[in-house]
Amino acid sequence: MSETSLGAPFAARARGALKDAYLQEALGIATTKFIGLRRESFEDFPQGDALRDRARAIKEATLQQLDHHLERLADNIERLGGRVHWAATGDEARDIILRLCRDKGVRMAVKSKSMATEEIELNEALEHAGVKPVETDLGEYIIQLAHEKPSHIIAPAIHKTKGQVADLFSKELGGRFEADPEVLTKVARAELRQKFLEADMGITGANFAVAETGTVVLVTNEGNGRMVTSLPRIHVAVMGMEKVIPSMTDLMVFLAILARSATGQKLSSYTTLVRGPRQPGEMEGPEEFHLILMDNGRTRQIAGTLREALYCLRCGACLNVCPVYRQIGGHAYGHTYPGPIGILLTAMLKGAPSVKELAHASSLCGACKDVCPVRIDIPRMLVELREHLDTEKIAPWTERLLFGMARRMMMRPSWFRRGASVARLAQKPFARDGRLRALPLFFGKWTATRDLPAVAEKTFSERWQELRRP
Ligand code: SF4
Repeated sequence: MSETSLGAPFAARARGALKDAYLQEALGIATTKFIGLRRESFEDFPQGDALRDRARAIKEATLQQLDHHLERLADNIERLGGRVHWAATGDEARDIILRLCRDKGVRMAVKSKSMATEEIELNEALEHAGVKPVETDLGEYIIQLAHEKPSHIIAPAIHKTKGQVADLFSKELGGRFEADPEVLTKVARAELRQKFLEADMGITGANFAVAETGTVVLVTNEGNGRMVTSLPRIHVAVMGMEKVIPSMTDLMVFLAILARSATGQKLSSYTTLVRGPRQPGEMEGPEEFHLILMDNGRTRQIAGTLREALYCLRCGACLNVCPVYRQIGGHAYGHTYPGPIGILLTAMLKGAPSVKELAHASSLCGACKDVCPVRIDIPRMLVELREHLDTEKIAPWTERLLFGMARRMMMRPSWFRRGASVARLAQKPFARDGRLRALPLFFGKWTATRDLPAVAEKTFSERWQELRRP
């Protein structure tokens, strides 16, 4: 098993990512750019902080009455001639789409970028059922050609350099293309144009759904979302239940901060508002509109410890600033949602045991909370997740033993003092200039990639006692 393969342990995948020079180059350039754009965009926007507080309050209030808002949304969509499907699990959501494809004779489906459909592994299921899925977002198109998974919530091909994309296009599409983003975009556009016209179904996610009007909102930059929602005869939108918001006024609050957080834009190039299928007298739009409201572990967390993760707008800002994500990229996490919020979403969707290694893939520096447009307290939830893994005995016994011993020692000052004296003696052969550079045995892992400060000659209490002496 290679270090980078999905079945490998997290540590091995992370090591593989660190050795990948292309990945390091691509990640460094893209995340640094995103961080700068976001910062500049909020610097010019004095209302930003107040709107972030407002957005958080809307999310909190909406979760209090989620059933009411979802029913209102469903009623309004059906009033407009759309169909609403309720899916308790990811499997159910997938089955609903496959059934629609079967019943409506769908052979090809064009897709706009959607993490919800990644979550339910829709492409694989469609292919298996004889329906050809075609990704139309440029990043998604690239990774579909490469037979890979997205490695970022909003920039699925962030792990690829433009040179790699040029090679991929040359190999998969035939021809020789230069590593110029503009050229490559034109190539993809020419390939995809015909697909929009041929497809029977358009599949999208949803950034928001407005309960008071039955409007599904898509925020994109490429215009492909608009084609996917209007050209094929059937439009299916798949949405996690937490994406509902009460009103159009609330939508304005979210739109003001979403693109700023994601790409540093004031607004995305396209904000598409979908209200059911084509209405009488309208020139374009699908004949049928279906909205799939997917639970898949979400409502369980309304009263759970991961509740705040339900506020997430999927802007990706927390990934860009995370010192772990910036080094290892998204694939090393091994699940659909990468980065710090991805760890929590994976725990929500697949249960805490699925993240027993990933729960520690955070330095808890708090950068994610600082940039989050809805101020999700990711570090707090990660600590609580670690605690849960410990109390439920999901974490490995070695980890529980070591941290259990450390906890006991820290709670007893006399043990702590004795421990410090032992450590001071034991470190003598390894300490130089106040640093420990290479420890033996199991402890060597701590010094494999960095130095540790040596245990001080005197503890703080000992120095304090000395200072207090007359
Ligand atoms: S947790 Fe916050 S910063 Fe991260 S993707 Fe979600 S909304 Fe964006």
